[in-house]
Amino acid sequence: MRVGILALQGAFREHAQVLGRLGVETRLVRRPAELEEIEALVIPGGESTAIGRLLFEYGLAEKLLARAREGLPVFGTCAGMVLMAREIEGIEQRTLGLMDITVRRNAFGRQIESFEAELQITVLGDKPFRGVFIRAPLVTRVGAGVEVLAEFEGKPVLVRQGRLLACAFHPELTDDPRLHRYFLGEVAKA
Ligand code: GLN
Repeated sequence: MRVGILALQGAFREHAQVLGRLGVETRLVRRPAELEEIEALVIPGGESTAIGRLLFEYGLAEKLLARAREGLPVFGTCAGMVLMAREIEGIEQRTLGLMDITVRRNAFGRQIESFEAELQITVLGDKPFRGVFIRAPLVTRVGAGVEVLAEFEGKPVLVRQGRLLACAFHPELTDDPRLHRYFLGEVAKA
C-alpha cells in the first residue's frame, strides 16, 4: 500500500519516518495529481491555517474531497484533525469538513500549551500510548456516526468515522507505531 503524506507544512517528515520504519511505501503529496497515486493519506500536524490556505490555493482540497468520497482512508493528526473537522468553534476558517466533529483550536485544558499524557486506547491493546499534545485542538462535539477511541480527562482525543481517523496529539513524535499500524490495518481496510 502506498501512503501519501500531505507535505505542505508541518510534521510530514516525522510521519514518513514512522511509516518507513513500518516498511510502508510513502509519497509526499504537494500537487493534486499526486493524490491519484496513493491508497491512503496522512494530514500532519503543524499550523492548520497555513496548511488549509495552501490546500485550497493549490487545488488539492477539491481532489482530496473527491478521493475521500470514493473511500480514501485519511488520518489527520493535530492540525490535520482541525482540517478534517466539519466546524471550528468561534472562527471563520475553511476546513475540508470530512468528519462530523467540531473542534476548538489551541484550547486544550486550561491554558496548557503543550503536555504529554499516557492514553488508554482500547483498540491498541493494554499498553498505554504516550500522547504528545502541542497546542492541541479540543473536540467539543462528536456527531452520531463518529466513534470516540480515546479520551483525555473526559475529552475525545482520538476519533474515527469509517475510514477516517483523527487525533488531537502527535503519534509521529513517539517511537510507538501502533496508531499508524491501526490506521493502515483496521481503518484503511474497513
Ligand atoms: N494549533 C494548531 C492549529 O490549530 C495545531 C497544532 C499542531 O498541529 N501541533 O493549527
